[in-house]
Amino acid sequence: MKLRQALILAGGKGTRMREITGGMIPKPLVRICGKPILERTIENLRMQGIEEITISVGYLHEQIVSCFGDGEKYGVKIRYIVEKEPLGSGGALYYLKETLKEPLLVCPGDVVFDIDIDRMFSCHLSKQALITLFVHPNTHPQDSDVILSDPDGRVTGILRKNEERRFYYANVVNAGILILSPETLGYFETLKPVNMEHDFVSSFIGKGAVFAYRSPEYIRDAGTPERFAQVEKDISNGTVAAKNLSRKQKAVFLDRDGTLNVYKGFLTKPDELELMPGAADAVKKINRSGYLAVIVSNQPVIARGECTDEGMREIFIKLETLLGQEGAYLDGIYYCPHHPDGGFPGEIKALKIKCGCRKPNTGMLKKAAEDFNLDLARCIMIGDDLRDARTAENASIPCVLIANERLKDTCGAELAPDILSAVDLALERYGK
Ligand SMILES: [Zn+2]
Repeated sequence: MKLRQALILAGGKGTRMREITGGMIPKPLVRICGKPILERTIENLRMQGIEEITISVGYLHEQIVSCFGDGEKYGVKIRYIVEKEPLGSGGALYYLKETLKEPLLVCPGDVVFDIDIDRMFSCHLSKQALITLFVHPNTHPQDSDVILSDPDGRVTGILRKNEERRFYYANVVNAGILILSPETLGYFETLKPVNMEHDFVSSFIGKGAVFAYRSPEYIRDAGTPERFAQVEKDISNGTVAAKNLSRKQKAVFLDRDGTLNVYKGFLTKPDELELMPGAADAVKKINRSGYLAVIVSNQPVIARGECTDEGMREIFIKLETLLGQEGAYLDGIYYCPHHPDGGFPGEIKALKIKCGCRKPNTGMLKKAAEDFNLDLARCIMIGDDLRDARTAENASIPCVLIANERLKDTCGAELAPDILSAVDLALERYGK
């Protein structure tokens, strides 16, 4: 089954972009690299198989309608919903209630993005979701809407931006793109302003029918002069298109304990986790390099019964929170809960196995390669232990180790004095 229909939300006033638009053109018509943002989106959706597009318009709508017409010149059918009164981010869905018979992609008209729609739609179908939200880690989770979900990706709540948060949370931000199944439109009984996330999506969260699809693909607002300049640069140097997961990606694999956080043996509680000096800056460098930042970590404490899987996730969530406070983020987190040697009190027997994921095996790297369409040959490993070097050797990729007194042998890996220099060395020497 293909996703064939989309709703593009282009009714906003774009007040934040006034410096660029001068209030004379609607934000979706702002030209970036010579082309209106909305035109780029329509072409991109068409290329990925979308055949029918509804555009909800309001502010200065005549300009949008005269620019795109019925869509013939783009090879798609376009129709418009004209909002006489502002309907919020979700109210326009009311108009599709009678006609929508298949799943619908909903996306903003004033944001630059390039995502693999088939991949997201496969996730929507495999989870049998009613609504799938596109979520991603960003550099400022503290002033973004953050999505809470269980390990299966089922959404359990939405934290509103600027809400005070006195707890740790994963860096998983709502990007404003979603897929919905037609039966959800029963929600719209009357025509009125609706907030897409806080009214509409939230009403389905309690039913367990909303899933998060986490992806590192490109989606950015260009609403300030600085952001505008960055997005323009990202389009012209090919970054926007390159991050689409239908194209091969590259990653820096990072060990956790002793690499990103201070080595204290195995951790069993969030309190014990302390960021290594320079760790956030190091991850930020990876974030800006075109490489994905992916953790691969052995955590045999779970097999030993010293920490539950849920407890382990809380430790990783603290790590994401601390990094997020400094503008750094992780694209993927993988850990091996197994251990090969059984026969100890308190252990979890089912996890005492010889697995393929425990480093120096390469199972976690291969899983990440599948999830992110990685070209393993272009990936790099950074760790603090001989086991990391052996993992890299087994995967035939280069490795940089952080020098420390526990390290007796380097298995031929490069050495760096700390995490920041390790990332510099890795990207300079092996980055391509
Ligand atoms: Zn394992």
